[in-house]
Amino acid sequence: MDKKPSVGYLGMGIMGSAMAGRLVDAGYPVTVWNRSRDKCAPLEAKGAKVSETAQEVVETCDVTFACTSDPTSARAVVFGEKGVLAGITKGKRFVDMSTVDEECVKEIAEAITAKGGRFVEAPVSGSKGPALQGQLVILAAGEEALQKEVQPCLDVLGKRTFFLGEVGCGARMKLVINMVMGINMVALSEGLAVGQKAGLQGKDILEVIKEGAIASPMYGLKGPKMLDGDFAPNFPLKHQQKDVRLAVDLGDKVGQSMPLAAAANEAFKAARAAGKGDEDFSAVYATVNR
Ligand code: NAP
Repeated sequence: MDKKPSVGYLGMGIMGSAMAGRLVDAGYPVTVWNRSRDKCAPLEAKGAKVSETAQEVVETCDVTFACTSDPTSARAVVFGEKGVLAGITKGKRFVDMSTVDEECVKEIAEAITAKGGRFVEAPVSGSKGPALQGQLVILAAGEEALQKEVQPCLDVLGKRTFFLGEVGCGARMKLVINMVMGINMVALSEGLAVGQKAGLQGKDILEVIKEGAIASPMYGLKGPKMLDGDFAPNFPLKHQQKDVRLAVDLGDKVGQSMPLAAAANEAFKAARAAGKGDEDFSAVYATVNR
């Protein structure tokens, strides 16, 4: 078997740490970096090396992945002092898995390739559980040859990889998917809230949903926890609001009216304003159900 390439991972949040952990378990030599170093400790305990800078990770690894919060963080990791760009030389490979808008990912791609580096965007669909189990859906775009080279790593992280074309297509697909997810979460929240106020049992509502055509894994997974008030974060609400906001921006750009996305954005904004940004996105139920 071919020697495994050395892999860098930037961003040890919920998703990055789960993905880096799987790569360690699969036998890749992994080096990690995070803005706050303490979040690297679990990976270090698993056998990963820890770097002091993103630049050093890129310089020392065959391929570097990143997964941070949003466009601001993705730009900071790439363009910041001792960031990814500082470590890019001809042929260096960088795969950004953060959920961002297409302007951001195009800016990053152009900067990396202008220095001779190679780039793929690969945002993911699927939350903490799928990330831990290697069951993510990966939405790749950019240099197809690089996607093929890193596919063995992506196969450790996901159950299916789509190659969607030029840089920007991954971001667009991810925003469309998360917009639909966010609208559905607000719909479930309103259904549970109005049903219970009208005297129905929340668990009966979930059971009836489960038996019909609108059954979905998300409702099955999140519904019971919502009724229990368990909002431990798998997908932080602040990131869901960011995704719906970016989807609304995409609608503006292409001239698509999206009243439901706009309403979902407002519901998530209200939940953030109520201090629920770091809870799971299903915590929108707590603010809808007042
Ligand atoms: P998270 O747990 O909140 O982690 C965010 C990460 O971004 C942390 O490593 C954080 O570093 C880093 N970060 C934030 N601002 C930064 C900055 N200015 N400079 C450098 N690093 C910065 O988020 P997550 O749930 O892992 O999500 C990561 C990405 O995946 C997001 O784009 C999200 O939309 C997407 N995503 C998440 C899920 C999910 O279910 N969780 C699913 C699909 C996609 P610190 O530790 O130093 O703050």
